[in-house]
Amino acid sequence: MNLRLSSTAILLITLMTHPLSIFGSDIKKKEEAVASIESHNTELTNISDQIWRFAETALRETRSSKLLADYAEKQGFEVKRGVAGMPTAFIASYGQGRPIIGILGEYDALPGISQKAQPVKEALEAGSAGHGCGHNLFGTASLGAAVAVKELIAAGKLKGTVRFYGTPAEESIGGKIYMAREGVFNDLDVCLAWHPDDRIRADVDSTQAIVDFIVEFKGKAAHAAADPWNGRSAVAALEFFTTGLNRMREFVKPTVRMHYTIQKGGDVPNVVPEYARVWCWLRDSKRAGAEELLARARKIAEGAALMAGVESKLTVQGGDYELLVNLTGERIIHANLTWLGPIQYTAEEQEFAKTIQRATSVEPTGLNGAVQPFDPPKPDPEGGSTDVGDVSWLVPTLHLSVTTAPEKAPWHAWPVVACGGMSIGHKGMAYAAKALAATMVDLFEDAKTREAIQAEFKQKSKGEVYKPYVPDGPPPVPKD
Ligand SMILES: [Zn+2]
Repeated sequence: MNLRLSSTAILLITLMTHPLSIFGSDIKKKEEAVASIESHNTELTNISDQIWRFAETALRETRSSKLLADYAEKQGFEVKRGVAGMPTAFIASYGQGRPIIGILGEYDALPGISQKAQPVKEALEAGSAGHGCGHNLFGTASLGAAVAVKELIAAGKLKGTVRFYGTPAEESIGGKIYMAREGVFNDLDVCLAWHPDDRIRADVDSTQAIVDFIVEFKGKAAHAAADPWNGRSAVAALEFFTTGLNRMREFVKPTVRMHYTIQKGGDVPNVVPEYARVWCWLRDSKRAGAEELLARARKIAEGAALMAGVESKLTVQGGDYELLVNLTGERIIHANLTWLGPIQYTAEEQEFAKTIQRATSVEPTGLNGAVQPFDPPKPDPEGGSTDVGDVSWLVPTLHLSVTTAPEKAPWHAWPVVACGGMSIGHKGMAYAAKALAATMVDLFEDAKTREAIQAEFKQKSKGEVYKPYVPDGPPPVPKD
Protein backbone atom coordinates (compact mmCIF):
# COMPACT_ATOMS: atom_id res chain seq x y z
CA MET A 1 0.00 0.00 0.00
CA ASN A 2 1.24 3.44 -0.82
CA LEU A 3 1.38 5.33 2.45
CA ARG A 4 2.54 8.60 0.95
CA LEU A 5 -0.79 10.36 1.28
CA SER A 6 -1.23 13.83 -0.10
CA SER A 7 -1.55 16.65 2.41
CA THR A 8 -5.21 17.10 1.42
CA ALA A 9 -5.88 13.44 2.21
CA ILE A 10 -4.16 13.77 5.58
CA LEU A 11 -6.19 16.88 6.30
CA LEU A 12 -9.48 15.12 5.46
CA ILE A 13 -8.59 12.09 7.57
CA THR A 14 -7.56 14.33 10.48
CA LEU A 15 -10.82 16.25 10.30
CA MET A 16 -12.89 13.04 10.09
CA THR A 17 -11.15 11.26 12.95
CA HIS A 18 -10.46 14.21 15.15
CA PRO A 19 -12.80 17.09 14.51
CA LEU A 20 -11.58 19.30 17.38
CA SER A 21 -7.93 19.18 16.42
CA ILE A 22 -5.49 21.29 14.39
CA PHE A 23 -7.81 24.15 13.60
CA GLY A 24 -8.90 24.59 17.19
CA SER A 25 -12.60 24.13 16.66
CA ASP A 26 -13.12 24.69 20.35
CA ILE A 27 -13.30 28.38 19.62
CA LYS A 28 -15.34 29.24 22.70
CA LYS A 29 -12.53 28.50 25.13
CA LYS A 30 -10.11 30.46 22.99
CA GLU A 31 -12.51 33.38 22.94
CA GLU A 32 -12.69 33.21 26.72
CA ALA A 33 -8.88 33.21 26.94
CA VAL A 34 -8.74 36.26 24.64
CA ALA A 35 -11.42 38.00 26.75
CA SER A 36 -9.39 37.25 29.90
CA ILE A 37 -6.31 38.91 28.40
CA GLU A 38 -8.40 41.93 27.42
CA SER A 39 -9.82 42.17 30.94
CA HIS A 40 -6.30 42.13 32.40
CA ASN A 41 -4.84 44.38 29.72
CA THR A 42 -4.52 47.50 31.88
CA GLU A 43 -2.62 45.65 34.64
CA LEU A 44 -0.46 43.82 32.10
CA THR A 45 0.41 47.10 30.36
CA ASN A 46 1.29 48.62 33.74
CA ILE A 47 3.55 45.69 34.60
CA SER A 48 5.28 45.86 31.21
CA ASP A 49 5.80 49.63 31.51
CA GLN A 50 7.26 49.27 35.00
CA ILE A 51 9.71 46.60 33.83
CA TRP A 52 10.52 48.87 30.87
CA ARG A 53 11.41 51.67 33.29
CA PHE A 54 13.33 49.40 35.70
CA ALA A 55 15.45 48.26 32.71
CA GLU A 56 17.44 45.80 34.83
CA THR A 57 20.26 43.88 33.20
CA ALA A 58 21.09 40.16 33.44
CA LEU A 59 20.81 38.64 36.95
CA ARG A 60 20.02 42.08 38.38
CA GLU A 61 16.32 41.89 37.45
CA THR A 62 15.28 42.00 41.13
CA ARG A 63 12.33 44.39 40.83
CA SER A 64 11.21 43.06 37.43
CA SER A 65 11.09 39.42 38.53
CA LYS A 66 9.43 40.35 41.85
CA LEU A 67 6.72 42.29 40.02
CA LEU A 68 5.90 39.31 37.78
CA ALA A 69 6.19 36.72 40.58
CA ASP A 70 3.98 38.80 42.92
CA TYR A 71 1.37 39.19 40.18
CA ALA A 72 1.38 35.43 39.52
CA GLU A 73 0.95 34.78 43.25
CA LYS A 74 -1.93 37.25 43.44
CA GLN A 75 -3.58 35.39 40.55
CA GLY A 76 -3.46 32.14 42.53
CA PHE A 77 -0.29 30.57 41.15
CA GLU A 78 2.05 28.67 43.44
CA VAL A 79 5.36 30.52 43.09
CA LYS A 80 8.84 29.19 43.73
CA ARG A 81 11.50 31.91 43.76
CA GLY A 82 15.28 31.74 43.50
CA VAL A 83 15.32 28.75 41.14
CA ALA A 84 18.62 27.13 40.01
CA GLY A 85 20.75 29.40 42.20
CA MET A 86 19.50 32.60 40.60
CA PRO A 87 17.56 34.98 42.90
CA THR A 88 15.73 36.44 39.88
CA ALA A 89 14.56 33.09 38.43
CA PHE A 90 11.15 31.75 39.45
CA ILE A 91 8.50 29.19 38.53
CA ALA A 92 4.76 29.86 38.88
CA SER A 93 2.44 26.84 38.65
CA TYR A 94 -1.31 26.39 38.61
CA GLY A 95 -3.42 23.25 38.30
CA GLN A 96 -2.82 19.57 38.80
CA GLY A 97 -1.65 16.59 36.82
CA ARG A 98 -1.02 16.25 33.11
CA PRO A 99 -0.68 17.68 30.64
CA ILE A 100 1.90 20.14 31.95
CA ILE A 101 2.31 23.03 29.54
CA GLY A 102 5.19 25.43 30.16
CA ILE A 103 5.62 28.99 29.00
CA LEU A 104 8.84 31.01 29.12
CA GLY A 105 9.15 34.67 30.07
CA GLU A 106 12.21 36.96 29.94
CA TYR A 107 12.68 40.41 31.53
CA ASP A 108 16.34 41.44 31.28
CA ALA A 109 17.44 44.68 29.60
CA LEU A 110 20.60 45.65 27.70
CA PRO A 111 23.24 48.02 29.08
CA GLY A 112 23.79 51.51 27.70
CA ILE A 113 20.73 51.92 25.45
CA SER A 114 18.35 53.90 27.64
CA GLN A 115 15.72 55.64 25.51
CA LYS A 116 12.50 57.59 25.96
CA ALA A 117 9.25 56.29 24.40
CA GLN A 118 9.56 58.72 21.49
CA PRO A 119 10.65 58.37 17.85
CA VAL A 120 13.74 60.55 18.31
CA LYS A 121 16.90 59.20 19.93
CA GLU A 122 17.18 60.56 23.46
CA ALA A 123 18.14 58.66 26.61
CA LEU A 124 15.60 58.37 29.43
CA GLU A 125 18.61 58.26 31.74
CA ALA A 126 22.00 58.75 30.10
CA GLY A 127 24.26 55.70 30.34
CA SER A 128 21.53 53.43 31.74
CA ALA A 129 20.13 50.21 30.36
CA GLY A 130 17.12 49.88 28.07
CA HIS A 131 14.78 47.16 26.81
CA GLY A 132 16.34 46.94 23.36
CA CYS A 133 15.12 43.36 22.88
CA GLY A 134 11.58 43.98 24.19
CA HIS A 135 11.89 41.56 27.10
CA ASN A 136 9.56 43.72 29.22
CA LEU A 137 6.86 42.69 26.71
CA PHE A 138 8.11 39.09 26.48
CA GLY A 139 7.81 38.28 30.20
CA THR A 140 4.52 40.12 30.68
CA ALA A 141 2.74 38.63 27.64
CA SER A 142 3.79 35.09 28.58
CA LEU A 143 2.49 35.56 32.12
CA GLY A 144 -0.72 37.12 30.76
CA ALA A 145 -1.25 33.99 28.63
CA ALA A 146 -0.59 31.73 31.64
CA VAL A 147 -3.16 33.68 33.70
CA ALA A 148 -5.80 33.31 30.96
CA VAL A 149 -5.21 29.54 30.88
CA LYS A 150 -5.25 29.41 34.69
CA GLU A 151 -8.73 30.94 34.64
CA LEU A 152 -9.95 28.22 32.27
CA ILE A 153 -8.45 25.56 34.55
CA ALA A 154 -10.03 27.21 37.62
CA ALA A 155 -13.41 27.17 35.87
CA GLY A 156 -13.02 23.45 35.17
CA LYS A 157 -12.85 24.04 31.41
CA LEU A 158 -9.28 22.78 30.95
CA LYS A 159 -7.52 19.98 32.83
CA GLY A 160 -3.84 19.89 33.71
CA THR A 161 -1.09 22.24 34.85
CA VAL A 162 0.12 25.54 33.42
CA ARG A 163 3.61 26.56 34.44
CA PHE A 164 5.20 29.97 33.85
CA TYR A 165 9.01 30.10 33.94
CA GLY A 166 10.57 33.43 34.89
CA THR A 167 13.89 33.07 33.09
CA PRO A 168 16.52 35.75 33.78
CA ALA A 169 19.69 36.80 32.00
CA GLU A 170 18.92 35.77 28.43
CA GLU A 171 21.20 38.50 27.13
CA SER A 172 24.36 37.37 28.89
CA ILE A 173 24.86 34.07 30.70
CA GLY A 174 21.66 32.33 29.55
CA GLY A 175 19.53 31.82 32.67
CA LYS A 176 17.56 29.03 30.98
CA ILE A 177 20.71 26.95 30.61
CA TYR A 178 21.26 26.91 34.39
CA MET A 179 17.56 26.11 34.85
CA ALA A 180 17.83 23.34 32.24
CA ARG A 181 20.87 21.92 34.08
CA GLU A 182 18.65 21.66 37.20
CA GLY A 183 16.10 19.68 35.18
CA VAL A 184 13.20 22.08 35.79
CA PHE A 185 11.83 21.68 32.24
CA ASN A 186 12.08 17.90 32.00
CA ASP A 187 8.51 16.97 32.94
CA LEU A 188 6.81 19.34 30.48
CA ASP A 189 4.61 17.94 27.73
CA VAL A 190 5.17 21.03 25.59
CA CYS A 191 6.86 24.39 26.17
CA LEU A 192 6.01 27.71 24.53
CA ALA A 193 7.90 30.93 23.98
CA TRP A 194 7.65 34.03 21.80
CA HIS A 195 9.83 36.97 20.94
CA PRO A 196 9.24 40.61 20.00
CA ASP A 197 10.04 41.17 16.32
CA ASP A 198 9.14 43.26 13.28
CA ARG A 199 6.80 40.59 11.90
CA ILE A 200 4.11 38.17 13.11
CA ARG A 201 4.83 34.54 12.34
CA ALA A 202 5.07 30.98 13.57
CA ASP A 203 8.84 30.45 13.82
CA VAL A 204 9.75 27.61 11.50
CA ASP A 205 13.36 28.80 11.28
CA SER A 206 15.94 27.80 13.84
CA THR A 207 18.43 30.08 15.61
CA GLN A 208 22.23 29.83 15.70
CA ALA A 209 24.19 27.69 18.12
CA ILE A 210 26.79 29.75 19.95
CA VAL A 211 29.76 29.18 22.22
CA ASP A 212 30.93 31.96 24.55
CA PHE A 213 34.47 31.81 25.94
CA ILE A 214 37.35 33.93 27.16
CA VAL A 215 41.03 33.47 26.33
CA GLU A 216 43.61 34.72 28.82
CA PHE A 217 47.33 35.11 28.23
CA LYS A 218 49.88 35.33 30.99
CA GLY A 219 53.41 36.60 30.25
CA LYS A 220 56.16 38.38 32.15
CA ALA A 221 56.38 42.09 32.92
CA ALA A 222 59.56 44.09 32.30
CA HIS A 223 60.64 47.66 31.56
CA ALA A 224 59.72 48.14 27.91
CA ALA A 225 62.90 50.18 27.18
CA ALA A 226 65.46 49.17 29.83
CA ASP A 227 65.19 45.34 29.57
CA PRO A 228 62.42 44.28 27.16
CA TRP A 229 64.33 41.00 26.53
CA ASN A 230 63.38 39.95 30.05
CA GLY A 231 59.67 40.44 29.29
CA ARG A 232 57.15 38.20 27.52
CA SER A 233 54.12 40.13 26.26
CA ALA A 234 50.62 38.79 26.87
CA VAL A 235 49.33 41.42 24.44
CA ALA A 236 51.61 40.07 21.69
CA ALA A 237 49.92 36.68 22.21
CA LEU A 238 46.50 38.29 22.13
CA GLU A 239 47.37 39.95 18.83
CA PHE A 240 48.58 36.63 17.39
CA PHE A 241 45.33 35.06 18.58
CA THR A 242 42.99 37.65 17.03
CA THR A 243 45.06 37.61 13.84
CA GLY A 244 44.67 33.83 13.71
CA LEU A 245 40.94 34.04 14.35
CA ASN A 246 40.47 36.72 11.71
CA ARG A 247 42.61 34.73 9.23
CA MET A 248 40.34 31.74 9.92
CA ARG A 249 37.32 33.74 8.67
CA GLU A 250 38.27 32.89 5.09
CA PHE A 251 38.07 29.17 5.84
CA VAL A 252 34.73 28.82 7.57
CA LYS A 253 31.23 28.25 6.17
CA PRO A 254 29.17 31.33 5.27
CA THR A 255 26.85 30.41 8.17
CA VAL A 256 29.57 31.15 10.75
CA ARG A 257 29.69 34.37 12.79
CA MET A 258 32.71 35.29 14.92
CA HIS A 259 32.98 38.31 17.19
CA TYR A 260 35.12 39.34 20.12
CA THR A 261 36.00 42.24 22.38
CA ILE A 262 39.38 42.87 23.97
CA GLN A 263 38.79 43.16 27.69
CA LYS A 264 42.31 43.65 28.93
CA GLY A 265 45.29 44.71 26.86
CA GLY A 266 47.94 46.12 29.17
CA ASP A 267 48.04 49.40 31.09
CA VAL A 268 50.87 51.66 29.91
CA PRO A 269 53.29 51.40 26.95
CA ASN A 270 56.45 51.33 29.09
CA VAL A 271 55.53 48.07 30.85
CA VAL A 272 55.64 44.80 28.92
CA PRO A 273 52.07 43.61 29.64
CA GLU A 274 51.91 40.43 31.64
CA TYR A 275 48.17 39.84 31.28
CA ALA A 276 45.69 40.08 28.39
CA ARG A 277 42.14 38.83 27.93
CA VAL A 278 39.78 38.54 24.97
CA TRP A 279 36.07 37.59 25.07
CA CYS A 280 34.80 35.63 22.04
CA TRP A 281 31.46 34.44 20.66
CA LEU A 282 31.50 31.91 17.82
CA ARG A 283 28.29 30.85 16.10
CA ASP A 284 27.10 28.43 13.45
CA SER A 285 23.78 26.90 12.42
CA LYS A 286 24.23 23.81 14.58
CA ARG A 287 25.90 22.84 17.84
CA ALA A 288 28.36 20.56 16.01
CA GLY A 289 29.51 23.56 13.95
CA ALA A 290 30.06 25.64 17.09
CA GLU A 291 32.04 22.75 18.64
CA GLU A 292 34.30 22.61 15.60
CA LEU A 293 34.96 26.37 15.77
CA LEU A 294 35.77 26.06 19.47
CA ALA A 295 38.29 23.29 18.79
CA ARG A 296 40.01 25.44 16.14
CA ALA A 297 40.04 28.49 18.45
CA ARG A 298 41.74 26.39 21.16
CA LYS A 299 44.53 25.52 18.76
CA ILE A 300 44.93 29.16 17.69
CA ALA A 301 45.16 30.23 21.37
CA GLU A 302 47.83 27.57 22.02
CA GLY A 303 49.75 28.61 18.91
CA ALA A 304 49.56 32.28 19.84
CA ALA A 305 50.90 31.56 23.32
CA LEU A 306 53.71 29.46 21.86
CA MET A 307 54.79 32.25 19.50
CA ALA A 308 54.78 34.88 22.24
CA GLY A 309 56.41 32.61 24.81
CA VAL A 310 53.53 33.02 27.28
CA GLU A 311 50.82 30.82 28.76
CA SER A 312 47.22 30.65 27.54
CA LYS A 313 43.96 29.54 29.09
CA LEU A 314 40.60 29.17 27.33
CA THR A 315 37.49 29.09 29.53
CA VAL A 316 34.02 28.32 28.14
CA GLN A 317 31.53 30.57 29.92
CA GLY A 318 28.31 29.61 28.19
CA GLY A 319 26.56 29.10 24.89
CA ASP A 320 23.24 28.13 23.39
CA TYR A 321 21.99 25.22 21.36
CA GLU A 322 20.22 26.04 18.11
CA LEU A 323 16.44 25.98 18.34
CA LEU A 324 15.01 22.54 17.56
CA VAL A 325 12.01 23.49 15.44
CA ASN A 326 8.82 21.48 15.83
CA LEU A 327 6.83 21.91 12.62
CA THR A 328 3.77 20.08 13.94
CA GLY A 329 3.58 22.60 16.78
CA GLU A 330 4.33 25.57 14.53
CA ARG A 331 1.35 24.65 12.36
CA ILE A 332 -0.88 24.92 15.44
CA ILE A 333 0.61 28.33 16.20
CA HIS A 334 0.10 29.46 12.61
CA ALA A 335 -3.56 28.38 12.71
CA ASN A 336 -4.06 30.45 15.86
CA LEU A 337 -2.29 33.50 14.39
CA THR A 338 -4.54 33.23 11.34
CA TRP A 339 -7.55 32.96 13.63
CA LEU A 340 -6.50 36.13 15.51
CA GLY A 341 -5.77 38.02 12.27
CA PRO A 342 -3.51 41.04 11.85
CA ILE A 343 -2.66 43.80 14.34
CA GLN A 344 -4.27 47.10 13.33
CA TYR A 345 -2.27 50.28 13.86
CA THR A 346 -3.40 53.89 14.02
CA ALA A 347 -2.03 56.56 11.68
CA GLU A 348 -0.10 58.01 14.65
CA GLU A 349 1.55 54.65 15.37
CA GLN A 350 2.53 54.25 11.70
CA GLU A 351 3.98 57.76 11.70
CA PHE A 352 5.91 57.00 14.92
CA ALA A 353 7.39 53.93 13.19
CA LYS A 354 8.21 55.80 9.97
CA THR A 355 9.95 58.60 11.90
CA ILE A 356 12.16 55.95 13.50
CA GLN A 357 12.82 54.33 10.12
CA ARG A 358 13.85 57.65 8.57
CA ALA A 359 16.12 58.37 11.55
CA THR A 360 17.84 54.99 11.16
CA SER A 361 18.12 55.11 7.34
CA VAL A 362 15.58 52.34 6.81
CA GLU A 363 12.88 52.52 4.13
CA PRO A 364 9.84 54.15 5.83
CA THR A 365 7.38 51.28 5.39
CA GLY A 366 5.98 51.57 8.93
CA LEU A 367 4.75 48.64 10.98
CA ASN A 368 3.90 45.24 9.55
CA GLY A 369 0.92 43.84 11.48
CA ALA A 370 0.11 41.05 8.98
CA VAL A 371 0.43 37.36 9.78
CA GLN A 372 3.25 36.00 7.62
CA PRO A 373 2.59 32.94 5.45
CA PHE A 374 3.66 29.50 6.68
CA ASP A 375 6.73 29.11 4.48
CA PRO A 376 9.03 26.08 4.57
CA PRO A 377 12.00 26.45 6.94
CA LYS A 378 15.22 27.93 5.53
CA PRO A 379 18.22 25.56 5.50
CA ASP A 380 20.17 27.89 7.84
CA PRO A 381 18.93 30.43 10.37
CA GLU A 382 19.54 34.16 10.23
CA GLY A 383 22.14 35.51 12.66
CA GLY A 384 21.21 35.33 16.35
CA SER A 385 20.97 32.90 19.24
CA THR A 386 18.73 32.30 22.24
CA ASP A 387 18.86 30.11 25.32
CA VAL A 388 15.34 28.93 24.38
CA GLY A 389 17.40 26.66 22.11
CA ASP A 390 18.58 24.67 25.12
CA VAL A 391 15.02 24.12 26.35
CA SER A 392 14.02 22.96 22.86
CA TRP A 393 16.42 19.98 23.06
CA LEU A 394 14.87 18.83 26.35
CA VAL A 395 11.16 19.19 25.62
CA PRO A 396 9.18 20.05 22.47
CA THR A 397 9.26 23.85 22.24
CA LEU A 398 7.04 26.04 20.07
CA HIS A 399 8.05 29.59 19.21
CA LEU A 400 6.39 32.60 17.64
CA SER A 401 7.32 36.18 16.82
CA VAL A 402 5.07 39.20 17.11
CA THR A 403 5.51 42.73 15.79
CA THR A 404 6.58 45.25 18.43
CA ALA A 405 8.84 47.49 16.32
CA PRO A 406 9.07 49.03 12.81
CA GLU A 407 10.14 46.84 9.91
CA LYS A 408 13.92 46.44 9.63
CA ALA A 409 14.57 48.82 12.54
CA PRO A 410 17.90 48.02 14.22
CA TRP A 411 17.50 45.56 17.09
CA HIS A 412 19.26 45.81 20.47
CA ALA A 413 19.06 49.54 19.84
CA TRP A 414 17.00 52.62 20.79
CA PRO A 415 14.09 52.10 18.31
CA VAL A 416 13.09 48.84 20.01
CA VAL A 417 13.31 50.48 23.44
CA ALA A 418 11.16 53.41 22.22
CA CYS A 419 8.37 51.19 20.81
CA GLY A 420 8.42 48.81 23.80
CA GLY A 421 7.36 51.62 26.14
CA MET A 422 4.29 52.80 24.16
CA SER A 423 1.20 51.55 22.34
CA ILE A 424 3.08 49.75 19.52
CA GLY A 425 4.76 47.49 22.08
CA HIS A 426 1.60 47.18 24.17
CA LYS A 427 -0.39 45.97 21.15
CA GLY A 428 2.27 43.38 20.32
CA MET A 429 2.31 42.20 23.92
CA ALA A 430 -1.47 41.72 24.11
CA TYR A 431 -1.45 39.97 20.72
CA ALA A 432 1.35 37.61 21.76
CA ALA A 433 -0.52 36.77 24.99
CA LYS A 434 -3.66 35.91 23.00
CA ALA A 435 -1.78 33.80 20.44
CA LEU A 436 0.02 31.88 23.20
CA ALA A 437 -3.18 31.35 25.21
CA ALA A 438 -5.14 30.15 22.16
CA THR A 439 -2.33 27.73 21.28
CA MET A 440 -2.30 26.45 24.87
CA VAL A 441 -6.04 25.76 24.66
CA ASP A 442 -5.30 23.46 21.70
CA LEU A 443 -2.45 21.80 23.58
CA PHE A 444 -4.54 21.18 26.71
CA GLU A 445 -7.57 19.96 24.78
CA ASP A 446 -6.01 17.78 22.18
CA ALA A 447 -3.98 14.74 23.27
CA LYS A 448 -3.46 13.62 19.66
CA THR A 449 -1.82 16.92 18.76
CA ARG A 450 0.44 16.68 21.81
CA GLU A 451 1.41 13.15 20.80
CA ALA A 452 2.21 14.27 17.26
CA ILE A 453 4.36 17.14 18.61
CA GLN A 454 6.18 14.74 20.93
CA ALA A 455 6.72 12.19 18.16
CA GLU A 456 8.39 14.83 15.97
CA PHE A 457 10.52 15.98 18.92
CA LYS A 458 11.67 12.42 19.67
CA GLN A 459 12.54 11.73 16.09
CA LYS A 460 14.52 14.99 15.67
CA SER A 461 16.38 14.86 19.01
CA LYS A 462 17.24 11.16 18.76
CA GLY A 463 20.81 10.39 19.79
CA GLU A 464 21.57 13.89 21.14
CA VAL A 465 22.70 13.89 24.76
CA TYR A 466 22.07 17.34 26.21
CA LYS A 467 25.32 18.96 27.40
CA PRO A 468 24.88 22.51 28.66
CA TYR A 469 27.64 24.95 27.68
CA VAL A 470 28.12 26.27 31.19
CA PRO A 471 30.95 25.69 33.65
CA ASP A 472 30.37 23.57 36.76
CA GLY A 473 29.28 25.40 39.86
CA PRO A 474 26.66 28.04 40.53
CA PRO A 475 25.61 30.75 38.05
CA PRO A 476 27.70 33.95 38.22
CA VAL A 477 25.24 36.01 40.26
CA PRO A 478 26.69 39.49 40.89
CA LYS A 479 27.51 40.09 44.56
CA ASP A 480 26.68 43.81 44.71
ZN1 LIG B 1 15.63 38.90 23.16
